[in-house]
Amino acid sequence: MPDMARLEARSRRLQRKPSRQRKASWRRERTKRHLSRVRRKIANRRKNWHRHVSRRLAAEAGTVAVEGLNVKGMTRSAKGTAEAPGTMVAQKSGTNRVILDTGWTALKRMLEYKAANVIVVPARNTSRTCHECGAKDERNRDPRTRANFRCVACGHAAHADINAAKNILARALDGAAGRDEASETGASARPEAFALATSADP
Ligand SMILES: [Zn+2]
Repeated sequence: MPDMARLEARSRRLQRKPSRQRKASWRRERTKRHLSRVRRKIANRRKNWHRHVSRRLAAEAGTVAVEGLNVKGMTRSAKGTAEAPGTMVAQKSGTNRVILDTGWTALKRMLEYKAANVIVVPARNTSRTCHECGAKDERNRDPRTRANFRCVACGHAAHADINAAKNILARALDGAAGRDEASETGASARPEAFALATSADP
């Protein structure tokens, strides 16, 4: 994902600005125009990135597996309550922002349009299950970096997104083998992995 943090910060700043400006003033109108320009820029950048990623994936693989993230549910859960915000809230809302940012439903649609076979699998435990031995443990993820995966049972180490992607692909192919013949080719894509590969891990 292209780095959009600066554009988004600008967009948020501009969103707040009109409240400090006189109603129906020339300056306020100018701020509104500026804001819509920044928003358009963000949308275009995202769309270009989707085009780029979907073109590459469709060219490299006949089948792409993605996990079905519950985007709405995740966004809700991060809000928490004012009384008990918890330490995970900031981190979680960061992750949510990345997921929402990538607009991966739009990406999936574009992939399907480009003739890739897209298989959506349940996201449950894909990131904490060891692809080598199948051990499922929260401690498999390094809590500090989140990018490192090390299995507490067998010692298998990998980039967390790669390990998860292999689980997603295996899950997709398991399901596909039962349904049809589409199981001999495959690549795995993880929406989070796209986002985290180019931006800092939230
Ligand atoms: Zn293992």
